[in-house]
Amino acid sequence: MKPFLSLLLAFWIARPAFPPQDDELRNHMVRKQIEERGINHRATLQAMRKVKRHLFVPLKHQKNAYDDMPLPIGYGQTISQPFMVAYMTQLLEPKVKHRVLEIGTGSGYQAAVLAEIVQQVYTIEIVKALGMQTKKKLHDLGYQNVEVITGDGYKGLPAKAPFDGIIVTAAAETIPPPLIAQLKDGGRMVIPVGASSAVQTLVLLEKRKGKVFTTDVTKVRFVPFTRDQ
Ligand code: SAH
Repeated sequence: MKPFLSLLLAFWIARPAFPPQDDELRNHMVRKQIEERGINHRATLQAMRKVKRHLFVPLKHQKNAYDDMPLPIGYGQTISQPFMVAYMTQLLEPKVKHRVLEIGTGSGYQAAVLAEIVQQVYTIEIVKALGMQTKKKLHDLGYQNVEVITGDGYKGLPAKAPFDGIIVTAAAETIPPPLIAQLKDGGRMVIPVGASSAVQTLVLLEKRKGKVFTTDVTKVRFVPFTRDQ
């Protein structure tokens, strides 16, 4: 081979994986998009600095992985904007000893962020192919405390209930009663509520002494919560 060509080949092989400075991109994302907008929950910030969002988006979107927006992940679904992931995580008040249920696995990014903070994450995805793909990815990335289940999250996961926290990342018309039932006393649920075609309301639901309290937190836009027929 010509020396020039072999040099080119050597550079190609030795080139750093994309993006070359992903730590910097993530730190910048956390500072500008998350901390400067008021998120101060330390464990959340730490997890967002650590989890490589670019590994959770399709190759063609990797260059935008640290931008301030949701991105398509295939199957008509999206990975939420980084700020929204941080915001919902902080609202959940996750603690080290917690067991958390997520409905809407999608790319697995939100599950990975939670898995950096809590003891155990269960996450349910209704699109089987997406669930299987994400299960493999989380396994390959070494997450041993995330269990991906495929199926309709409306029913929750009674076998592993009750949960310290429940996070729903698809917009439901109403809060599924089985999820309320599977929340521990003292637990928190974060869920976008509203018609799928409209702007929805992010609701915080707290259970105290068996009573349920809900607070409307902010307006959001999520993909619809669907049901198995
Ligand atoms: N948390 C995800 C966001 C994915 S978008 C992430 O970090 O990437 C919401 C996901 O909810 C979609 O993948 C959609 O298929 C799934 N979903 C919608 N309705 C569902 C249901 N009833 N049960 C489980 N998953 C559901």
